[in-house]
Amino acid sequence: MVYETQKPEETYELGKRLGLKAQPGMVWCLEGDLGVGKTVFTQGFACGLGINGPVNSPTFTILQQYEDGRLPLYHFDVYRIADVEEMEEIGYEDCFYGDGVCLIEWPSLIREILPEKTVWVSIEKDMDKGFDYRRITVEEKQKP
Ligand code: ADP
Ligand code: MG
Repeated sequence: MVYETQKPEETYELGKRLGLKAQPGMVWCLEGDLGVGKTVFTQGFACGLGINGPVNSPTFTILQQYEDGRLPLYHFDVYRIADVEEMEEIGYEDCFYGDGVCLIEWPSLIREILPEKTVWVSIEKDMDKGFDYRRITVEEKQKP
C-alpha cells in the first residue's frame, strides 16, 4: 500500500490507524532517512495502541518499552548499533517472538536477525512535491 501525506499530522494519523490494527507478535520495520518522519509515525502508532505517555526516539538506549497500551510496544532504534550482539544483550528475541508489537527504526542494520515475516514501512521525501510531502509504503515482507 502506498500512502501520501502532506503534513506531520497526516503521518501521525496513518501511524495511528495502523497501530489500531496491530496484532500480537507483529514486527514493524521503519525505514527512511533522518528527519523523514519515523518518530512522528511511531508516535501515532503508539497512540493507536492506546499508549498515553510520551514516545521519543530511543536512539541512546536502542530499546524503549511501553506497557500501558492494548499490547506491549517494543520500540527499537538501532541507528547506533555496532554489532548485532548488542541486540542479544538486550534480549531482543523475547520482544521479536513475544506477544507484543515491535517497531524497529533502521532495520537494515540488523537484517540478519530480523524474523521471517515483517511489515516494512518506508518513508520517503520528494522535494518536487513540496517540503512536507511524504510517500509512505507499507508492505508485508517475507525473508527470501
Ligand atoms: P525521524 O524520526 O525519521 O528522524 P522525525 O519524525 O523525528 O524524523 O521528524 C520528522 C520531521 O519532519 C518533523 O519535524 C516533522 O514536523 C516534519 N514533517 C514535515 N512534513 C511531514 C510529514 N508529511 N510527515 C511526517 N513528518 C513531517
Ligand atoms: Mg527518529
